[in-house]
Amino acid sequence: MQKPSDAPGTAGDSYSLVMKTGPEWSDLARVRRPLSAPRPGSALVKIHRAAVCGTDLHILKWNDWAQQHYRLPLPLGHEFSGVIAAIGADDASAHHGLAVGDSVTVETHLACGHCDQCLRDRGHTCLNLKVFTRLGEGAFAEYATVPLAMLRRLPAGMSHRHGCLLEPLGIALRAVEECRVTGGVLFVSGCGPIGLLAVAAARQTGVARVLAADLSPARRELALALGAEVAVDPRDGSDRALVGTGVDAVIEASGSPAAIENALNLLRPGGTLMLAGMPAQNLALDLSRHVVLREIAIRGVYGRHLQGTWARLQEIAPRMQSALDRLITHEFAQDDFAEAFRVAMDGQAGKVELIFS
Ligand SMILES: [Zn+2]
Ligand SMILES: [Zn+2]
Repeated sequence: MQKPSDAPGTAGDSYSLVMKTGPEWSDLARVRRPLSAPRPGSALVKIHRAAVCGTDLHILKWNDWAQQHYRLPLPLGHEFSGVIAAIGADDASAHHGLAVGDSVTVETHLACGHCDQCLRDRGHTCLNLKVFTRLGEGAFAEYATVPLAMLRRLPAGMSHRHGCLLEPLGIALRAVEECRVTGGVLFVSGCGPIGLLAVAAARQTGVARVLAADLSPARRELALALGAEVAVDPRDGSDRALVGTGVDAVIEASGSPAAIENALNLLRPGGTLMLAGMPAQNLALDLSRHVVLREIAIRGVYGRHLQGTWARLQEIAPRMQSALDRLITHEFAQDDFAEAFRVAMDGQAGKVELIFS
């Protein structure tokens, strides 16, 4: 094992980890676990920053989706940045180009590399996909043991504060670029963190006009600060007047059934509806009108392309640091995790981060 002199891992060392222990919102505990040396193919990462994600909120609420996908007790969090403290492999060729001391963040999806989807260069929808949240590790922790194949080095000079946002930024960037709306008009429906990151990414990638909608006045303000031309309350109908003959693409990040239906009505014929939020139930949509007669393409985005998006992030994210600064509206010391979750749950915040070191 490659290990620096100041790395933990000696007998008796332990680290803290926030876990959801029961179905109630208040069923949270910070537990201590012994630190152990990483197995070959994995690294021990000392976490510096972690961010609260919409997925964490589904799990905290313990809604139907969370109950179908997870078992309790469950370590919380998957968006983090940190420094590699130890690598559990002797053969440097298996280190994925990473070394002890590197600043990294995590690609939360791990592909098998040999299934039909992987052979089609679609590792993010691998048929044997492993996800960080089911590896028994968490982000709201002092350390995590992570397969080396899931780690990505931060762009040179990027802070951990910004670095822990690359995973959600990757989703937003991919949603924007796969709408193929360069020079056109994009409507972002739902300005939670993914929607706000999409607004900011669109401004960096040649989208001519970005329009946004959210129920929260605070989030509409954030959308404007991140480069939206206008940000409307979807309940007052002003979005219809705004879009004229229809926008080229909508990124729908709220998952709200009413917002999805509205998005179809805002699109021009031939436009694209990109779903980035998960509706909680099945929907009835007028497919004859929108998909057949108006030729609207409906698709979704799940995570990042495991190589391509990270290459784009290396290029684009360093130019987005002032946007990321605006997006981070709340930062808490690690002891205040419950308050951080409460603020994120409120639906008024941008990104909420916890500071570990
Ligand atoms: Zn996330
Ligand atoms: Zn696969």
